[in-house]
Amino acid sequence: MKVLMKAPAKINLTLDVLHKRPDGYHEVEMIMTTIDLADRIELTWLDENVIRVTSQNRFVPDDQRNLAYQAAILLKDRFQVQHGVQINIEKTIPVAAGLAGGSSDAAATLRGLNRLWKLGLNLDELAVLGAEIGSDVSFCVYGGTALAKGRGEIIMPLPAPPNCWVVLAKPLIGVSTADVYRRLNVEHISHPDTNSMIEAIRRNDFDGVCQQVGNVLEGVTLKMYPEVAQIKEQMYRFGADAVLMSGSGPTVFALVQHDSRMHRLYNGLRGFCDQVFAVRMLGDRHTLD
Ligand code: ATP
Repeated sequence: MKVLMKAPAKINLTLDVLHKRPDGYHEVEMIMTTIDLADRIELTWLDENVIRVTSQNRFVPDDQRNLAYQAAILLKDRFQVQHGVQINIEKTIPVAAGLAGGSSDAAATLRGLNRLWKLGLNLDELAVLGAEIGSDVSFCVYGGTALAKGRGEIIMPLPAPPNCWVVLAKPLIGVSTADVYRRLNVEHISHPDTNSMIEAIRRNDFDGVCQQVGNVLEGVTLKMYPEVAQIKEQMYRFGADAVLMSGSGPTVFALVQHDSRMHRLYNGLRGFCDQVFAVRMLGDRHTLD
C-alpha cells in the first residue's frame, strides 16, 4: 500500500518578531502562503516495525534528523502503531532556504500517515502534533494562507492573496534559521504592519499587498550575505512589483502580476542565481482525503 503526498513550500508575506519569550522562543506574527513549488513524499506500508527515509538529495538527512522521520516516529509512539513505513522524499524545494521545506515534508508525512495507518485524526489534531516537531509544521499541515502567531503554531486562516506570479531566486548558500534569530536585536527593528497586510488580502488588493510586505529578519541576513541584497536589486531592476526575503532566507521572492514581467524576471535572474523558479500561489487549504 502506498500514499503519495505533495508538500508545498511557503513564503512569508510578512514576518514580525514581537519579543523574545522567557522559554527562549521568539513571539512572532507572520502571514504565510503556500506556493506551487513542492516536494513529493511517497509513503509505503512496511509490515516490519521500522521507519526508513530515502532521498536523492545529499543535503537531506536519512535518519532521525529528518523532519519527516520525526513526524512518523511521533505518530508511531503516540498511537502505538505496530508496523512501519518507507518514506521517499523527492526534493524540489531548496534546502535551508527559508521556504519551510523540511516542515512541509513533516506536515505531508503527518497527513499521509494518518491515511496510510488509518489513524482517523483531523487537521487540527495533526497541527497540534506538528507543533511538537517544529514551529512552521502546524501551518504546513493546513496550507493555504494564514496568520501564524505564538512561536508560529497558532494559526488563523486568511483568504488567498490576489492572483499573481511568485518568482523565487536562491543564491548558493544555506542559512541557519537559529543563527539569524540569535543575531536579531529585537529592540531595534522596524515592524511590518500585519493588520494592513491582512486588510489588503481581504480587499484582494494587489498593490496594497505589495506595499505591506515586510520581514524583520531580512536586515540580519543581508548583513551576513550581501549577495541577497544584490538579488533584491536585480529583481527591482527587472520590474518586480514587490520584493522580499522569505523566512530567514536566503531565498528572495518577487511578486508580479503580468506574464511578460514574470518572463523578464525569470530569464534575467537565471545565470545569476543558483536556483530560480516562477510559480503561482496555492490558494486552497489542504483536505484530508
Ligand atoms: P526553517 O526556516 O523552518 O528552518 P528552511 O526552509 O530554511 O527551514 P529546511 O529546508 O527545512 O530549511 O532545512 C533546514 C535543515 O533541516 C536542513 O539543513 C536539513 O539538514 C534539515 N532537514 C531535516 N529534514 C529535512 C527535510 N525533509 N528536507 C530538508 N531538510 C531537512
